[in-house]
Amino acid sequence: MRKIALIYTGGTIGMRQNEKGKLAPMDFELAVEKIPALGLLPIEIKTVSLKKAIDSSEMTPKVWIELAEAADRLMPEVDGIVILHGTDTMAYTACALSFMLKGLTKPIIITGSQLPIGVLRTDAVENIVSAFEFAALTDKNGDCVIQEVAIYFEYELLRGNRAYKRSSNEFNAFSSPNFPSLASSGVRLSVKKELLWRSKENYCLDTRISNNVGVVTLYPGLDFSELPVLTNWKVLLLRTFGAGNAPKSYDFLKFLKRVEKNRTIIINTSQCVSGSVIPGLYDSSSALEEVKMLNARDMTFESAVVKSMVLLGRGHSVLDFHEKFSLSLSGEVSE
Ligand code: ASP
Repeated sequence: MRKIALIYTGGTIGMRQNEKGKLAPMDFELAVEKIPALGLLPIEIKTVSLKKAIDSSEMTPKVWIELAEAADRLMPEVDGIVILHGTDTMAYTACALSFMLKGLTKPIIITGSQLPIGVLRTDAVENIVSAFEFAALTDKNGDCVIQEVAIYFEYELLRGNRAYKRSSNEFNAFSSPNFPSLASSGVRLSVKKELLWRSKENYCLDTRISNNVGVVTLYPGLDFSELPVLTNWKVLLLRTFGAGNAPKSYDFLKFLKRVEKNRTIIINTSQCVSGSVIPGLYDSSSALEEVKMLNARDMTFESAVVKSMVLLGRGHSVLDFHEKFSLSLSGEVSE
């Protein structure tokens, strides 16, 4: 029998109304009692919960470290891990775990739901049951089929660091616009084996992370002359238009020069969720060529920001940061 760990972090899936009538996380044991389907699975489940169940909008790098360390402790004794997580920052957590737990050979499947577990029409039961089924899948050699961090939601298994939350009210809450789904669940589970991530690294835990990143979203009318450049920005993610485009204005160029003078690494990441940043495509973006700038290519914004935090935490030189950021560390960017 496969042994799968279940880590409960909170989120709508395990919430109920508190005395103020607002949805708040409940105890893990109470949440699990409401999932009788778990008892029907031919799987041994080891349950663990974080120090405090949270709404995932309260997520911090400190909790990512707690989660990664919990997963690392469980790894030797289980065949896979299912994490129950709020949907709001699930994609960020998936990215963080995919970078912190290098060289995975077992699955970490993150899931949650749009309606709490005890509510009529909840999507929690299908999500949890299928997440466990994917976590327990083995090939003919007995190896785990999934060997990466994935998000399971509404019949689709997505690479965690390629996914983002696309809807706050539809059951189909997650999308992976630049990479196909890894698998789907219908009458049968169907896995696209050729898309699965296989790491060449040896397994190891590396939880170093820094939050010295800034984000600026461009919009028509943004006054760059008034825009501050914070001294603690070691990386600035510039959310550009379309294929990585920006205005030609003098104030924008001056802003970029101020950022560069601050010794901040600048990353061009598009506001478009689908497609890639293509530098130099349009003449209008020539200001961007006046400074050294990294290109997030087809990474999700979530992935670009968490990857920056992780690479900063690892203390790379600017040159190494540039090199590592451009590489695919765990399948987050197309080669
Ligand atoms: N606010 C909730 C959370 O992310 C939403 C959810 O779980 O769907 O924890």
